[in-house]
Amino acid sequence: MFERIALIGVGLVGSSIALGVRCEGLAKTIAATARSALTREIVAQKRLADVVTVSAAEAVAGADLVILCTPLGAYRGLMEEIAPHLAAGAILSDVGSVKQAVVRDVGPLVPEGVHFIPGHPVAGTEQSGPEAGFAELFHDRWCILTPPPGTDPAALKALSAFWHGLGSRVETMDPGHHDLVLGITSHLPHLIAYNIVGTASDLEEVTQGEVIKYSAGGFRDFTRIAASDPIMWRDVFLNNREAVLEVLGRFTEDLAVLQRAIRWGDGEALFDLFTRTRAIRRGIIEAGQETAAPDFGRPHGEEADG
Ligand code: NAP
Repeated sequence: MFERIALIGVGLVGSSIALGVRCEGLAKTIAATARSALTREIVAQKRLADVVTVSAAEAVAGADLVILCTPLGAYRGLMEEIAPHLAAGAILSDVGSVKQAVVRDVGPLVPEGVHFIPGHPVAGTEQSGPEAGFAELFHDRWCILTPPPGTDPAALKALSAFWHGLGSRVETMDPGHHDLVLGITSHLPHLIAYNIVGTASDLEEVTQGEVIKYSAGGFRDFTRIAASDPIMWRDVFLNNREAVLEVLGRFTEDLAVLQRAIRWGDGEALFDLFTRTRAIRRGIIEAGQETAAPDFGRPHGEEADG
């Protein structure tokens, strides 16, 4: 579909795109660049790209689709480097987990004649790096595109078809709305996980190893999220400050209500909330966004031992 795709950054998301593009034949040539020599070496070894370059400018030359796949904090510097080398008529997109900051920081640096359409595949794992990727990462997951007003419909159609080709469902959205929705569904849960795991680790001295020993009680599910890439998540919170603070305010108010219910023995309030939240999980399973298997399908008993 595309002649040459340039992937700037080849971590979990970039390598998954590369593998998916290969699997589905979505481009004739894949060009890729990453910051470290080690990552570029792995990309070459695993044949994730046809061309691996040291310079991002070289990777984008002649590309009709360029996707920024680095942490958000690297975007501005990279844009300054690649902007003069972007081909006229090329589509410039990204995979960043925040969208208003991308429109604000990248938008003004996009040269005339280049179609700038930010994007966010809502798919990931807690792993990072070029060896963490897999072609199926985007299957049945949403990819949200936030085309600026006046976006060329043909470019939007081509980018949507690309993500469909990778197995995603595609939605377009206003970047501010994206940041609020993802603030509650992704960013706040990560903040809570980082916080609870941090608190438990501070208590570790008091409990002498029991936090880890009895982690199956619920704690370990938070540790998966709290193991996510520190640089990527630092950049998410620095770039989605307003929306995160807004939903965090709501969250702390609701937490105070729960605190009060526990203090005053208000079982009805607790039961009502827990019943409502159970239904939300059922809805997520019904929407095909989660397995129905108990305990996330983890093996138990003989299966676990074997
Ligand atoms: P990752 O696995 O940590 O990979 C980041 C890649 O960017 C690495 O190849 C890294 O190169 C490269 N990089 C970093 N700074 C660079 C720079 N200044 N110049 C060139 N390359 C640079 O990250 P990821 O999980 O794929 O996330 C990438 C983006 O996807 C982020 O913006 C994130 O918000 C978004 N996203 C992530 C997820 C998720 O669950 N992980 C889901 C959806 C969207 P080196 O390896 O050489 O350091």
